[in-house]
Amino acid sequence: MSTDRDGKKLVRSPSGLRMLPENRALGSPFCLEEPQWVPDKECPRCMHCEAKFDFITRKHHCRRCGKCFCDKCCSKKVPLPRMCFVDPVRQCGECSVISQKEMEFYDRQLKVLMTGATFSITQGSSEKSETVVCRLSNNHRYLFLDGDNHYEIEFALISTVQILTEGFTPGGKDIHTYTSLLESQCVIEGGNSRATGMLIQYKPQGSEELLQMKFTTSEDFNSNKKMSASWLAAMHKVLSIEDALHVLGVHFFFFN
Ligand SMILES: [Zn+2]
Ligand SMILES: [Zn+2]
Repeated sequence: MSTDRDGKKLVRSPSGLRMLPENRALGSPFCLEEPQWVPDKECPRCMHCEAKFDFITRKHHCRRCGKCFCDKCCSKKVPLPRMCFVDPVRQCGECSVISQKEMEFYDRQLKVLMTGATFSITQGSSEKSETVVCRLSNNHRYLFLDGDNHYEIEFALISTVQILTEGFTPGGKDIHTYTSLLESQCVIEGGNSRATGMLIQYKPQGSEELLQMKFTTSEDFNSNKKMSASWLAAMHKVLSIEDALHVLGVHFFFFN
């Protein structure tokens, strides 16, 4: 069974065309609902510069917050992937700044995570390792691991994530070294805080038992090692965005 169903439909809303998942429950957890527009009669003036609306000064609604603005205060058309708009949509100054930041997140971190990277995984206390390609599902809800076996780990069922960096000794309980990975570049360039693995704890669907899985960038995959480190850095970045954390419901441990 694959949970990566991509059935989508085009929906026209007053704000523009949206590409929505057929089954909303399987949509990306990062998706936002469209806001209620502030009714025309409740805003005689621009909610930013207070210009009075008339025949010349027309009102426009920000597609992200739904508030009313004059053309000057709401002129920017910015992509809004979190509301699934196909084209860039009109947004106020405040919202366009947020949306632009989110575009970076979509263009960089999410892209890297969805492309996937090679890891060696071990489960629980088992010594046996498996080589898998780990990637974020298209709907951002699952980690898919593909090797000899196929695993699907739902993000919502992951209780903790620890990013392991150089200095981590496998098996050593107190010797985990977590260094700041906030700048993904330094990781990619192989600085002294290179990510070498990830430890996750999760409860499989319908189970109360907490399982542990360790991901390491194996020495065997030299050519892919950089990609694996970038993948971990992207994962770290996603998990350090408070909003993403909240959306995914993951507790992230990060120590210096
Ligand atoms: Zn204005
Ligand atoms: Zn706005």
